[in-house]
Amino acid sequence: MDLTRNVNVVLDKIAAAAIAAGRDPGSVELCAATKVQSDDVIRSAIAAGIRLCGENRVQELAAHLEGDAYAGARVHFIGHLQTNKVKQVVGKVELIHSVDSERLLRAIDSQADRLGLVQDILLEVNVAGEESKGGVVPERLPALAEMALGCPHVRLRGLMAIPPVSTVSGGNRKYFAQMRHFLVDIIGKIADNHNTVDCLSMGMSGDYEDAVAEGATLVRVGTAIFGPRPPVSPAH
Ligand SMILES: *Cc1c(COP(=O)(O)O)cnc(C)c1O
Repeated sequence: MDLTRNVNVVLDKIAAAAIAAGRDPGSVELCAATKVQSDDVIRSAIAAGIRLCGENRVQELAAHLEGDAYAGARVHFIGHLQTNKVKQVVGKVELIHSVDSERLLRAIDSQADRLGLVQDILLEVNVAGEESKGGVVPERLPALAEMALGCPHVRLRGLMAIPPVSTVSGGNRKYFAQMRHFLVDIIGKIADNHNTVDCLSMGMSGDYEDAVAEGATLVRVGTAIFGPRPPVSPAH
C-alpha cells in the first residue's frame, strides 16, 4: 500500500473539487478514518501527510492513544458513541462528530464540566431518515441544536452526516446540499455566544468530491487511503 501516493491523490482531488466549486482548497480538511488500522499504519499515514485522524471505536481510540500512534496529528471521534463511554472520549479528542441525542449531549456536557473543559462537538444528522442508522432525524435537529447551544461545557461546531451508500455517481449530492441548508439554519439562530458553527463533516471514499462541491469542510476518508478493510462484525 503506497500511503503517500494515496494521500496525495485524495488531497489533489479535494483541491480540484474545491476549485471547481469556486471554493478555497484550504477550506476543506482531510480526516483519515483509521478504524481497524494498526499503530504502525497510522504512524505511516501521518508520515505520508495525514494531519487529522478519525477514530470510530472507543476501544481502538484508547489503544492508539496508549501507543502514542497519533503523534504529529490531531484526533477526532467519528463513530457511534454510547453514553456510558463518554469518559473515554471527552477531553481526549479535539472534536466528537457523532452527538445525536439529548442524553448523549448531557453526558458529554457533564463529563466536560467534571474535567473543567469545553468539548467541541458536531451533531450527527440522519439525513436520509434511514431506520438502521444513528443520527438525529432532521425534524428533531433544531431542538437538539438549541440544546447544544445552551450547554456551557460543549461548543457546537457544526454537523456531520453519513448518507446511504450511493450506487450512482452524484447520488448523495442532494443529501449533502440538505446538510448545508441545515447548517445555515443553525448559524442563523445563534446569538453571540461561545459557539462557532462552521464545520460540515460529510463525504467518504465514494463521494467526498461531491461533498466538497456541496460545502463539506471536512471529509472522512478510509478506503481511498488505506485500501479495503476486512469485514468487521457490527459494533455493540
Ligand atoms: C469508516 C468511516 C468513514 C470512511 O469510510 P470509507 O468509505 O472507507 O472512506 C467515514 N466516516 C465514518 C463515520 C466511518 O465509520
